[in-house]
Amino acid sequence: MSDLLSFRQDLISKKTSAGDLTRRCLDVIRRADTRVKAFITVLEDGALAQAKAVDQKIARGEPVGPLAGVPVAVKDNICATEARTTCGSKILETYVPPYDATVVDRLRKADAVIIGKTNLDEFAMGSSTENSAFFTTRNPWNLDLVPGGSSGGSAAAVAAGMAPLALGSDTGGSIRQPAALTGTVGFKPTYGRVSRYGLVAYGSSLDQIGPFGKSVADVALLAQTISGHDPMDATSVARPPLQAVGNLEIDVQGLRLGVPKEYFGAGLDPEVRASVEGAISALEKRGATRVEVSLPMTEHGIAAYYIVAPCEASSNLGRYDGVHYGHRAKTFEDVASLMARSRREGFGPEVTRRIILGTFALSSGYYEAYYNRALKVRRKIKQDFDRAFETCDVLVGPTSPTPAFPVGAKANDPLAMYLCDVYTVSTNLAGLPGISIPCGLTKAKLPIGLQIQGKAFDDLGTLRAARCFERELALTLPWPSL
Ligand code: GLN
Repeated sequence: MSDLLSFRQDLISKKTSAGDLTRRCLDVIRRADTRVKAFITVLEDGALAQAKAVDQKIARGEPVGPLAGVPVAVKDNICATEARTTCGSKILETYVPPYDATVVDRLRKADAVIIGKTNLDEFAMGSSTENSAFFTTRNPWNLDLVPGGSSGGSAAAVAAGMAPLALGSDTGGSIRQPAALTGTVGFKPTYGRVSRYGLVAYGSSLDQIGPFGKSVADVALLAQTISGHDPMDATSVARPPLQAVGNLEIDVQGLRLGVPKEYFGAGLDPEVRASVEGAISALEKRGATRVEVSLPMTEHGIAAYYIVAPCEASSNLGRYDGVHYGHRAKTFEDVASLMARSRREGFGPEVTRRIILGTFALSSGYYEAYYNRALKVRRKIKQDFDRAFETCDVLVGPTSPTPAFPVGAKANDPLAMYLCDVYTVSTNLAGLPGISIPCGLTKAKLPIGLQIQGKAFDDLGTLRAARCFERELALTLPWPSL
């Protein structure tokens, strides 16, 4: 059984309490977060009060929600009214949102405990959390290494035992890649499955909120809680919430695993390759069928993504003008200099680069050559997936080409950083569900992630396939204790 379902039983039978679990998490944060730096804000008092309210409900014999008493860490680009939502940016350093994101609202209704807001690459642009304007989050497995990004704070918080669950956002891999680098499970649902209302927009046609946890069942529980139609998000799809809890076990026999040859080419770390191949063989031995497939457009994924995402970002980030809200320059001559100066002071270098790239690619004369062309590639990527899924149920491969790398190793080389996303961006371009689960450790004792991509709206099938791997591999990770 999942950790959290057994916690729930103990909670209801009063063997444990919400206060207990929350205090334990806060203890780990107090002890270790000066080194890990997963959190921008820790909501100590609020979390204890929420936990107490759950314990009181139970004492009174009232029913409690599916996440009763479970501490959840929330990425700091998701709005919650009790604290700042900074997006890891100076431009929103003091911004306290006047409303809750729909996912946060659903957490509250499920009786979860919101324990804090986690660090991220500024506006979720990055793959290492080094682009945060405030500090770099460290990988709990080795503090000299990055935890991945952009949801590195959420991934690190779960890996370090600071919260059993966390929310991240994934525009091109920002849930799956940090999950891979920290040994956690991270799930990006199908585009439209989870409301984006209250998620600060980066690339609106790509962004999707999703869960981190230490098991597929825990992640499924949180995914189910936050999924479902929301009239506040026009791209939210009118489908009922995911029905995954208690519904994950399927037979490996007959499961068709598509293995894209392009995911095992040059640039893939040999240890990652061996571990992912080993996991696939293990499932084959238990009765799964391996299907060789090809996704020929994979090599163009990064190029298309790094046009589409910056284009959307340049438009979305136009709202930070020093007038409506956010950082405002102290000195200026006129409105134009107020806006220019506020933006220059408020945005970090990577965000600035993306805005310039996106504005250029959208400008007259270049729009056809760059943006429209990228959209054509995007359609072809989608067609690749459609073709592949004619012969298999899910696609399996590595999540990230390498395990966690040292802080600083790619910080000054944007292209090297972008290449971290080579296996993850296509999922977002096609709007598909994707999950990363741990499949082994390197010789240096670093986690390796295996990615499963599913058909659009087959979030359940994706989670079930992930559960098959988890069950058959039966990996027990030596979680770092800090
Ligand atoms: N690393 C990718 C980027 O920088 C993906 C980020 C994300 O998924 N938010 O855009």
